[in-house]
Amino acid sequence: MSNTVQSGRPVAAHPMETDEQARARLSVDCAFPAVAAFLADEQARERVDGMTPQLPADEPKTWTFTNAVTGEPVTLTCMAGCTVDHTADMETPTHPEDINCYTDGTEMTLPLLGGLSRGHGPEDLTVLGFRMEVDPFSTTVARRLPHLNIEFVEENWIEGLDPDALATVIGQLSGQLTRLRVAHSQLTAVRAEYRRRSA
Ligand SMILES: [Zn+2]
Repeated sequence: MSNTVQSGRPVAAHPMETDEQARARLSVDCAFPAVAAFLADEQARERVDGMTPQLPADEPKTWTFTNAVTGEPVTLTCMAGCTVDHTADMETPTHPEDINCYTDGTEMTLPLLGGLSRGHGPEDLTVLGFRMEVDPFSTTVARRLPHLNIEFVEENWIEGLDPDALATVIGQLSGQLTRLRVAHSQLTAVRAEYRRRSA
């Protein structure tokens, strides 16, 4: 928890900034451009929903590494769309459990204030980042199939989602977006009423 706002005296990240300017910078207003981008992404997602799933055009790579436990060569084929450079895996004996294939989704950031921003005012942190991954030799059998990992807030992940679990999370996020839209209209009304009383 940051105490910069609760104490009534925001910490100025910029030396020449007045308290009033710092308060304005920390206010919800500064998050509006990011919220607009977030809603635009949601519309894009709705357009994508009706599309037939397609594999990447490039054929997945097939390559060989030396199993560090057995000393034996092991040949495997990457997950479709894998963007990992496996050169290091190929060049040195590798523990099979250390091998993974993944591809990262498009990043989205929001200015967050709180423990994660370490008390220096809002900080643009990745929210709802995601990575499609497969850990072909994982001791957790479910991870041996491609799954989605959500970086819910930077450094805070929900891992190992299969298609059903992912559908549940998408439903929760969609519901949360609806709550955000309601909150947006409420905010407009609350601010107007607040301004009238303060005038
Ligand atoms: Zn790979």
